[in-house]
Amino acid sequence: MRIELLNVGTELLMGFVVNTHASWLGRRLNGIGATLARQTCVADDAADLRAALSEAMARTDAVITTGGLGPTASDLTRAAIVEALGLETRVDELSLENLHERFRQRGAPVLESVKSQTIVPKTATVFQNAHGTAPGFAIPLNGPCRMILVLPGPPRELRPMFDRQALPLLRKRFADLLPALECRVLRVASLGESRVEEIVRPRLCEVAGLEFGYCARPGEVDLRLVVRAKEAAAARETANRAEALACEALGEAVFGRGDDTLELAVVRLLRERHATLATAESCTGGCLAHRITQVSGSSECFKQGWVTYSNDAKAAQLGVPGHLLVEHGAVSEPVARAMAEGARTRAGTTWALATTGIAGPTGGTPENPAGVVFIALAGPNGTSCARHLFLYERESFKFVATQTALNMLRLEAGKRR
Ligand code: ATP
Ligand code: MG
Repeated sequence: MRIELLNVGTELLMGFVVNTHASWLGRRLNGIGATLARQTCVADDAADLRAALSEAMARTDAVITTGGLGPTASDLTRAAIVEALGLETRVDELSLENLHERFRQRGAPVLESVKSQTIVPKTATVFQNAHGTAPGFAIPLNGPCRMILVLPGPPRELRPMFDRQALPLLRKRFADLLPALECRVLRVASLGESRVEEIVRPRLCEVAGLEFGYCARPGEVDLRLVVRAKEAAAARETANRAEALACEALGEAVFGRGDDTLELAVVRLLRERHATLATAESCTGGCLAHRITQVSGSSECFKQGWVTYSNDAKAAQLGVPGHLLVEHGAVSEPVARAMAEGARTRAGTTWALATTGIAGPTGGTPENPAGVVFIALAGPNGTSCARHLFLYERESFKFVATQTALNMLRLEAGKRR
């Protein structure tokens, strides 16, 4: 089943508002096996909207519009659609009641212009708005395009309305076109997307009926496995087989599934092993501690973090020997090791991670250019340390450095039973 999305809003095109409906609805539609085939954004302009609507209707089974259902002169979606399709309208009494109730709670009089929001096509199924005054609606059609869904702009109104009212209707109306769908995402760290492809492609190509793809971000790759089939059981079985093959091929590089983050995987692992962690950060400026503490339940394993940006702080707070700082410089393997060991001893934890490097763009030297980072891990079996070069702007540099540190801990802590 193919759906097109038509976002209405001059503010979207002017760049004042990020079009989150496209990604949010895309994911939701993908979840029921529908294909979001195209997304168009038009300004608050009736002629543009009508043109985009008729083009979209000619190509797809259903069209979803968002925005422009409010009471102001720039909100013209409802009128433009009604006019373009030559539909008769009525006032939706339930929406009118809801509108009066909302204004009564606020102690404000109901303006005539606001009431226009409760006008809907006579043939439409109305979606009540639990978080605003403008209802959404679905217009059934007889053409190749079988339905137009009209939804409000504000995300907090659109999302619950879509999940509770529009999605069940779509499923019912398009039951004949929607396949059973299984979508799995494997989360991979420490490998680039080409390497991931090299490893999994030969095996996954053997699985009939499987679509797979990759999404690369700094420091991680998602491997997406999608199966569409007539029967749910068949889709599940194929997806299970593909997932098992991919996991076997990628081994310990897979750190999670779905929306799992690496920090979540690490906290889960440490809690399972009753192990504890401290962090000693220089160039990552607390990003490592921040990521770990984003995970609910991290207090069970995370004990303490230092941000020691200056040499003095590294010496005073972590006990890094002054001669190491003088002889090797703060960005060096001996200092990274001493930071991790100092943190581990002082916090009394099972593990300690340390980062020291040059985030750039300034501050590099021929020996240690901007982007260099030493990451050390101190643990029950001693200390390991690796030098990396991450050529990113500061924010991504910090993310990738912490990603690498977390992964180092995950792999090492995972070995110990
Ligand atoms: P309202 O009754 O609030 O006017 P509406 O249905 O008329 O709602 P719009 O006027 O088009 O919707 O948009 C209202 C607000 O909703 C926008 O200012 C914006 O903050 C948000 N919004 C609209 N479209 C999108 C979108 N595609 N992605 C994210 N936010 C959006
Ligand atoms: Mg509006």
